[in-house]
Amino acid sequence: MAFTYLDHNAGTALAPDVLETMLPYMRQQQGNPSSSHRFGRFGQAAIDKSRAQVARLVNVAPEQVWFSSGGTESNNQALMGVFEQFNNGRVLVSSIEHPAVLEPAKRLKQHGFDVVEIPANADGQITTEALANLLTDDTRLVSVMWANNETGVIQDIAGLTTLTRGEGVPFHCDAVQAAGKLPIDFQAAGVQLISLSAHKFGGPKGIGALIVDKTLDWPAYVLGGGQENEKRSGTENVAAIAGFGSAAEYAQQHLAEYQQHCRKLRDALETALKSITGVTIFAEHSERLPNTVFFALAGFDSDTLLMALDRQGFSVSSGSACGTGRHIPSHVLTAMGIDAPTALGAVRISVNMDNTLEQIQQLAVVLNNEASRFNHLMNR
Ligand code: PLP
Repeated sequence: MAFTYLDHNAGTALAPDVLETMLPYMRQQQGNPSSSHRFGRFGQAAIDKSRAQVARLVNVAPEQVWFSSGGTESNNQALMGVFEQFNNGRVLVSSIEHPAVLEPAKRLKQHGFDVVEIPANADGQITTEALANLLTDDTRLVSVMWANNETGVIQDIAGLTTLTRGEGVPFHCDAVQAAGKLPIDFQAAGVQLISLSAHKFGGPKGIGALIVDKTLDWPAYVLGGGQENEKRSGTENVAAIAGFGSAAEYAQQHLAEYQQHCRKLRDALETALKSITGVTIFAEHSERLPNTVFFALAGFDSDTLLMALDRQGFSVSSGSACGTGRHIPSHVLTAMGIDAPTALGAVRISVNMDNTLEQIQQLAVVLNNEASRFNHLMNR
């Protein structure tokens, strides 16, 4: 049986050339990139090249790229930077953020900050009105993601930052799901901090970056030997950094092709889904990532459908978290006002360049069969 991977928002395989770019930094003696001898310089040159490649992906100067261990660490550095600089004040985070933002936000609350969630509307969007209602003079940071990992909904970041620009309120954006899938222009978006992660767009796992506005002196989160211009200590993972740069360049060069291909597959899947009775496509009417479909099939909880699909060769993701043996509806769907039984059925399909229309057609047949079997049982 052929196995089809349809969970690219969780992680992707390495893009072409990425592994080849990384291998010399794993195979050869390269020393420590902080050393000034030739072995150190060999690693440092790779870091410099990658920094420029990542900078080009998001339209910033190379010195604005601070490498980290991934999206989670960058989000933590962005949020916990508030704690380093202030004793009190408000922090606004959207209700649909990834736990890598929500958990440090919770920590800030424990430290006495007035952490408030910006509500999402029924289409999964954070509106400028919702943000305007909550902004105060003592707001220290706003954090709203570029694109949601579950629904794929793209936020109007440039619209939201019209409220914070020039007000001295830093705007952080988790762009982990957007980079490599959408054009990202840090300047045009009007943000001051964005988080990136390489493994969401063809780079290796465990490497990412925080992109920081030139005028912002954001504090370090990981302390030690002062690497990354004192902003992120720890001996650099040169091979991963080199792979990140290579993936960034590849993604930038192939963005139009990627979007066109994924959109074709996504639209084909959605057309097929709509012909099945009892299907809900979440945030269907919002602008979404071209590769993501988040849906529920009436009568199925996500685990049942996930396992049925897995048995038939399709690896997809569910939208519910599993805590203490109990299924909890996705906080993203809950924030959108989706009722718990529907939310508990949520399944996410996220495609990539590697997927084919044929795979999507086969998946549609399997979904149709599952739905027919269920309806047949119900009508007996
Ligand atoms: N933010 C978003 C929106 C994500 O989807 C993820 C990963 O799933 C992360 C942050 C965490 O990134 P990383 O896996 O690089 O720590």
